[in-house]
Amino acid sequence: MSVREIIRMGHPTLRKVAADYPTGQIGSDHFLQLVSDLKDTLAATGNGIGLAAPQINESYRVAVIDIPNSTTRYGTVTPLPFTVYVNPTIRVVNPQAEGFWEGCLSVPDMKGYVERPQHIQVDYLDASGAAQTIELEGFLATVFQHEFDHLDGVLYVDRLKDTRLFSFDSEFSAYHMTAED
Ligand code: ZN
Repeated sequence: MSVREIIRMGHPTLRKVAADYPTGQIGSDHFLQLVSDLKDTLAATGNGIGLAAPQINESYRVAVIDIPNSTTRYGTVTPLPFTVYVNPTIRVVNPQAEGFWEGCLSVPDMKGYVERPQHIQVDYLDASGAAQTIELEGFLATVFQHEFDHLDGVLYVDRLKDTRLFSFDSEFSAYHMTAED
């Protein structure tokens, strides 16, 4: 178990298409170490709700998401306990998009407004290697798309609809945050 360095925008690993995690290796020492490091590193951030393996410089299609009750910046959000997603794929159920101000542990101290489809289905392998499907709507759909973009070398800044809606955190709080945020 260890807290790993979260690499930042500009590091080439964040721009690579990550490799499928070898399904035969799910449950191996390497896998358990990777998941443990993702969990510890996410917990150490204090406010992160998701972390993808490429963000700790491991170019595999593995991500963890942990949405606690206390998440308030995004209003009322359904909590989602810590879960590991291996080799996930996204299917858009309804392409109707909605925007949220997103942040990223690899792009610290900034926020940007991104619109994404708000109803998706995700197929993935869980930490025991079993195939699972989950359907997500609203903000959760945005969170999953943001995290899984990391597995394709994509950052939210690539998806900014309008670069004028890209802000440092303090200016975001001062000028862009509304009552609903
Ligand atoms: Zn991110």
